[in-house]
Amino acid sequence: MKLDIISIIKNIGESIEFEMTDKLEVLDSGIGTVSFTGPVTLKGTATSFNHMIEVKGEAQIRYKTVCDRCGENLERNLTVSFNENIVERKGQDQDTAMEDEDRFTYKGHFIELDSIVVDAILLNLPMQHLCSADCEGLCPTCGNSLNGLHCDCSEDQDIDPRLESLKSYFKK
Ligand SMILES: [Zn+2]
Ligand SMILES: [Zn+2]
Repeated sequence: MKLDIISIIKNIGESIEFEMTDKLEVLDSGIGTVSFTGPVTLKGTATSFNHMIEVKGEAQIRYKTVCDRCGENLERNLTVSFNENIVERKGQDQDTAMEDEDRFTYKGHFIELDSIVVDAILLNLPMQHLCSADCEGLCPTCGNSLNGLHCDCSEDQDIDPRLESLKSYFKK
């Protein structure tokens, strides 16, 4: 996703607003159990400073994952904000070896927004996903989801000892 800043690049203090939607290949493989299902939607403002462009805004993406406790499929929306100062990259050579890796740079009159957006998304992706805050998870014995269900395993524990013999009788 390229942002053309030609209209503000020479005018310090000038801003442009931008809005775009695009699929980001970097996110295609997903992260762990998270897979991104849609394109990224961006909305933001770029402001020109002296050899530096401030880019800030919001990115929105939809993703699929599973509940950490019960394994149920989930689909979530993630909205992240970004605010970066992009500095002008000098020099003609292709690989500016001295480039500071922690800084985003631009050359000419285009800003490449992909890595800014991907960074913001990965940094803000929740570490834990639950279908609901009180998800009961899975039964450790039979592996069935305990949400709203009761499997026989949990009933076994508080079975009346006097019925125990009867139960084994019926199993025969
Ligand atoms: Zn769950
Ligand atoms: Zn069970």
